[in-house]
Parts: sequence; structure tokens; C-alpha cells
Amino acid sequence: MIGLLAVLATLASSGDSIPAVVTIAGAKGEARIPVQADATGAPVISAPILLSALDGSASVSDGWAEVSVARQAFRFLVGAPLYVFSNRLQPMAASASVSRDTLYLPFQFVAEILPANFGNRYRYDERRARLTVSGSTERAPLARAPPRKESLLPNGLRPGHSVTIDPGHGGVDPGNPGVFFPRGTREKDVTLQVGLLLRNELKRRGVGVQMTRTSDTLIALGDRGSYCTESCDLFVSLHVNSLARRRGYTDVRGYETYFLAEARTEDAARVAQMENEAVRFEAGSASGETGVGLDFILKDLQLNEHLRESARAAELVQRQLKTVHTGESRGVKQAGFMVLTTARRPAILVELGYSTNPEDGRLLTSYASQKAMASALADAIVEYLLEYQRKTSPPVESEG
Ligand SMILES: [Zn+2]
Repeated sequence: MIGLLAVLATLASSGDSIPAVVTIAGAKGEARIPVQADATGAPVISAPILLSALDGSASVSDGWAEVSVARQAFRFLVGAPLYVFSNRLQPMAASASVSRDTLYLPFQFVAEILPANFGNRYRYDERRARLTVSGSTERAPLARAPPRKESLLPNGLRPGHSVTIDPGHGGVDPGNPGVFFPRGTREKDVTLQVGLLLRNELKRRGVGVQMTRTSDTLIALGDRGSYCTESCDLFVSLHVNSLARRRGYTDVRGYETYFLAEARTEDAARVAQMENEAVRFEAGSASGETGVGLDFILKDLQLNEHLRESARAAELVQRQLKTVHTGESRGVKQAGFMVLTTARRPAILVELGYSTNPEDGRLLTSYASQKAMASALADAIVEYLLEYQRKTSPPVESEG
């Protein structure tokens, strides 16, 4: 909350000096770039236009935008008011965003961030809304920065983690009908609402997010897992439980988290085998016959590792949900959900509560408790990533 207020205060204080157009004056001439408003009303400018004027470049992947200017890299977490430069994480007044495949950078990048970091190369004249680039193409002094060493976010995470959020069901598949939900609300609506809130919470914590869906659409079950590939750290599927009508069925409530069951390793083995078969048809592949066995063993080992990781993530989710959920913890469970078996990374499926219970029904559809659950899930995910990071990365070297 404090962080948000600080950001709002910064926005308000800089609100009086935002021009409609900013001029970039460089060696190649002048470019006039419109200052636009993003979805939140914050001033932004189109990165492709700006970078063409500055001879820079940008690429976006896993929720991070890497912008290269004057041979220096800035990393922006898309959708969060943060950037990393020279191995340091810095707050901004607004977020980098992507709209219709175009990256937008906060206006602050031109007016403050570039001049502050390369005073001898970029000068910003606020009165004329003009950024002057000095003719020199020599390396900026910051190129002497110490050799690249990874900096950590304030919560201890390395920048660049990425999580896939899968709001269960969607489109023609409404999920369970939601007996105690407000009229017209179904499971697919609740999973999407919580999923979008979870996305915000994770971004605020510096974690990149990919969604399997952001609207009321249906994604084939077999395709959901493919959203979580090599660069994704965890796959999180969100669902709402329900019971069939029977005596006392409305009494049952609470939340539980599933991870991929061991019984399904056969299935994964089958997938691995199939892929190995395909290798034989690849022209010029040297792996041929001998590659099959080794690949299979490696996949199997990797899968077992994912099982342990998934189970741990499920445990942390249950523990965090306990702090915000008024229903009972129904524990960590194993199951062979297809949505989990198709994810090639650690994966969990969270049943947030029962729509067939009146208290859970209220909890699942109130904005305040949806937000509380999203925040608890995000805390659990950060905890999981921190543990995983500690296990997999060598200790950070310190200089002097
Ligand atoms: Zn479901």
C-alpha cells in the first residue's frame, strides 16, 4: 500500500510538466514524438519511435522488456513501475506496457531516467520538451560499470522469474454452475477474476506472468500446459470446487491444492517417447538411435524433480491461503489432471473453495476476498521461487 501511495504521489507531482509532444534532437536530426496516455492515464511514449530516434532497440519476453540505448541495457517489468539498470532495481512513476504489440515506455524515461544516467549524453529541457543527444558516439562512462552481476529485487528474487496463470474453463465451458454464486456467475468467471488479480499481485512482486487466457475464451485442455515452457518457473491452474447434490452437500467447504500425481508419470513417459520417435524424422539429426534412451532417462529424472517442486509449491499455497480463507484447509493432494500433465514444468492446481457452500460462495465472489486470496497465492509463489532460487543458483559472489 505504501509503495502504491508513493507512486501516486510521484505521478501527481510530475503531472504539471507533461507535454503533448516531445522532441528528440540527435545527430540524425529531430524527431517529434507524441506523449500518449496508457490505460491508467499515465504519460507514455511509443518505444519503437523513440528508439529509432535514439538508435536503440527493444525486445520483450517473459514479461520483461529489454531496452538498449547507448550500448546500455534497461530492463522494464511490463505492467509494473520498475526498471533494472546497471544491476539496480529502481522504481518509476508509471509502468512500461504493451498495447497492440507495441511497447510503450513511461515518459519519465525520456525526461528523467536517460538524463539522470547519462548526463553527458542526454539533456532534457523541460520548458521546450526537448531531449538533446550529444553527437558523441563514444561509450558512456557507465560502460565502465562492474562486470554484470545479478542484482536482486527488494523481496530477494532475481529479476526474470516467470509464472503461467491458468484461469480454469472459459468460453463455452463454464466450469461448475456456482450454486451459491450471484446469478449468472460461474466457475469460469471466478477463476478469471482471481487469475487477473493474481497477475497484478505477482507483477507487483517483480514476477513476470503469462496468462493462458485473459478473457472469456476456451483453451483446449491439452494446450493449456504448453503455455508453460522452458522459461516458465511454475504453472498455476485456478479452479472452484463443487459437489453433486446429496444429503448435506452444502456443508462442505474449504480449499485444496493438487500437484501432478506419480501415477501419471507413465503418461509423461509416453509423451517423451513420442518426441523421441519424432527426432528420427528430423533431417540431419545426429541423435538417431542412441539418443532415445538417454533422452528418456533425462526426461524421467526431470519429471521427478518437477514432482518434488510441485508438491512444495502446493504446500506453500495451502499455508498462505490459510491466512485469508475462512474455510478449512483440505490439504495437498495428488491427481492426474490433464492440465497438469501437459505442463512441462512444476505445476499446481488450486481449488479455491466450494461454490456449493454458501460461505465459500460469498468468499469466492467478493472482490475483497478475491484480492486477499490472490495476494496470498502471490506470497506463496514468491516463497516458492525464493526456495527454488536458493537451491539452483550458486551463492552470489561478493566483491570486496
Ligand atoms: Zn474447474
